[in-house]
Amino acid sequence: MTTEFKTALYVLATPIGNLGDVTRRGAEILATVPWIAAEDTRHSAPLLKQLGARGKLLPAHQHNEQAAAQRIVEKLQAGEAVALISDAGTPGISDPGARVVAAVHAAGLPVVPVPGACAAIAALSASGFLEERFLFCGFLPSKSGQRQQALAELRHEQAALVFYEAPHRILETVGDLANELGERTLLVARELSKLYESIVRLPLTEAQAWLAADSNRQRGEFVLVVSGAPPSADAGEGERVLRVLLADGLGSKQAARLAASLTGGAQKMLYEMAVRLKNSEEI
Ligand code: SAM
Repeated sequence: MTTEFKTALYVLATPIGNLGDVTRRGAEILATVPWIAAEDTRHSAPLLKQLGARGKLLPAHQHNEQAAAQRIVEKLQAGEAVALISDAGTPGISDPGARVVAAVHAAGLPVVPVPGACAAIAALSASGFLEERFLFCGFLPSKSGQRQQALAELRHEQAALVFYEAPHRILETVGDLANELGERTLLVARELSKLYESIVRLPLTEAQAWLAADSNRQRGEFVLVVSGAPPSADAGEGERVLRVLLADGLGSKQAARLAASLTGGAQKMLYEMAVRLKNSEEI
């Protein structure tokens, strides 16, 4: 099969473990493009060999990304397509790639995403959390004080939270998550698409003990998904804003709508609170 493709930067997702997870379109592009910019050319060699890739390799990692971006722009300007890959998953997602993509946009040249594996999305899809929004947080800071501070800032976030974590920090991080966020549900997605894949949903406050009980549970690559803050966590702020708006003469409905957009709280909950406040004749 031959692929008709235009001259562009193809931002191409590669597998996160199971080599069968490269898409057919991704495989065709990798087998055909004259240039492949890779985060680690040695790491990607087995995949590229398996796909029969014949393109020349260009290193594009976090230490040379700006210079690599320049070379890639030159290739594109010369009419030669380039595929950009990282070690695993989607480039630019906790991986290098964004600088290259930005440089190609800046040069007015086309960027084409070739979607595929991403550990965060794979874990979310298996989480069963009902939040309609999620916040991708990537890796938390490695220093414990900074990590706790970052988590404290997320305490009232109602979206599901998605973190990447390395095995040597998993115990500490899960402990900090529980201390800073309190009772939530945690999904521990380990070694996705690999031989020892394990996906476990459990109360966040029990997770550290569960991980500590068996060192095998601490091995491999992790995505952690934490359920969002319950809406009541924002009730205090919501009530304060509602009181101001109601005292200013707004009706319950309008006050609830404004309070919801100001605080991020749920409009229905704020409306019920507004009605209660009005009925209590405090306002
Ligand atoms: N660009 C990648 C993506 O699209 O998911 C992420 C790269 S980041 C450098 C690597 C981190 O992603 C790992 O430390 C781990 O947290 C997560 N990860 C990657 N592959 C994984 C897998 N198979 N199972 C669980 N987590 C994985």
